[in-house]
Amino acid sequence: MIFNPKAETAPRAEIERFQLEKLKHAAVYAYEKVPRYHAKFDTAKFDPYKIKTLGDIKYMPFTDKTDFRDTYPYGMLAVPTSKIARFHASSGTTGKPTVVGYTHNDIGLWAECVARIASAAGVGASDIVQISFGYGLFTGALGLHYGMEKIGAAVIPVSSGNTEKQIMLLSDLKATALVSTPSYAVHIGETAKSLGIDITKDFALKYGVLGSEGCTAEMRERAEHALNIFITDNYGMSELMGPGVSGECELRQGLHFNEDYFLPEIINPETLETLPEGAKGELIVTCLGREALPLLRYRTRDITSLDYTPCECGRTTVRMAKASGRTDDMLKIRGVNVFPTAIESVIMGTAGTAPHYEIIADRKSDSDTLEVKIEVADGDLLDSYSKLEKLRADIRHNLKSIIGLDVKVSLVEPKSITRYEGKAKRVFDLRK
Ligand SMILES: [Zn+2]
Repeated sequence: MIFNPKAETAPRAEIERFQLEKLKHAAVYAYEKVPRYHAKFDTAKFDPYKIKTLGDIKYMPFTDKTDFRDTYPYGMLAVPTSKIARFHASSGTTGKPTVVGYTHNDIGLWAECVARIASAAGVGASDIVQISFGYGLFTGALGLHYGMEKIGAAVIPVSSGNTEKQIMLLSDLKATALVSTPSYAVHIGETAKSLGIDITKDFALKYGVLGSEGCTAEMRERAEHALNIFITDNYGMSELMGPGVSGECELRQGLHFNEDYFLPEIINPETLETLPEGAKGELIVTCLGREALPLLRYRTRDITSLDYTPCECGRTTVRMAKASGRTDDMLKIRGVNVFPTAIESVIMGTAGTAPHYEIIADRKSDSDTLEVKIEVADGDLLDSYSKLEKLRADIRHNLKSIIGLDVKVSLVEPKSITRYEGKAKRVFDLRK
């Protein structure tokens, strides 16, 4: 179902007219309300009162994590804290978290954006949604929660952790949709199986609205199989608002952007030049119509491309390809750029592996090394040397042809790699 046909199926010219009006407003608003933007615009000699076309955005300076860090905690806010209805914060990998504020209106538009994405995923008013994201400062759980309520679904705010209780609730309350990370969905499925649960009879799950960690098509297939569900991917980021920026429809041909609230661009992350339609590069997002935190040209570090052709589902909004990796997740091994997602695709695309792995980069006698530890799906395999060697050789060969590097492949016993109830940690760069 299309939640807001007026916004989601508008002709492109109308979308762009609307975006231009909102962009002009957002630029002036940020300039007048946030000293950091005032200073940035002045330094870049960018006049927010002179925006004439959407293309003028390329003269506007970028924003990134540094802006949040330098103005911590409230420096990016355009309203006094008395006008803030809620704060969230993203888990900073180093030092202080990134603080994100919302007015009541911001929370309303956030729920609208998530409602559209949940509807596109197939979830409706009669569904029961179990939310297995951790509730708290993280935007995932409450973001999905408000959006699901907006479409009229019933929400079970179970939060993350306690997998056996999750399984009991799935079986007793018969949730029809699950919100979690892809890796946790797999873990729930595996644990249910080991408890003797028949997911096709005891569970009523139909949909998985998964996010928060990147998920390759191959990993999605594993998660779908583990829980017998149809999974759609959605994209968001705390700084931009949280979940609700873009999401897949049932056709899964890219993630539809909520273009009346988010204006995407693609740039070359090295030269910072805007790239033409369809080109692959770093995703830049400008928020349109946000009150508390008017974020302009935010560098997401996610690598993707944009497709402006209308989708067969009826939506006319631009679609982004599944992010193929993050520029800051990229590993440089002996001069070769390696995206962990490329490794995941190879592992998940090889029969006999379980969807649990670790990627370990290290440095030995002045040379970078890369090791991939993968659980085998069936422990009996470990007893057959020839089968084990064949699987190892297959993965090594496929990795070599895809990423161009000779990788050490270690096959380990089922259940020997750590499971995560939130975002999985799979990459360990010991050189740092
Ligand atoms: Zn579509």
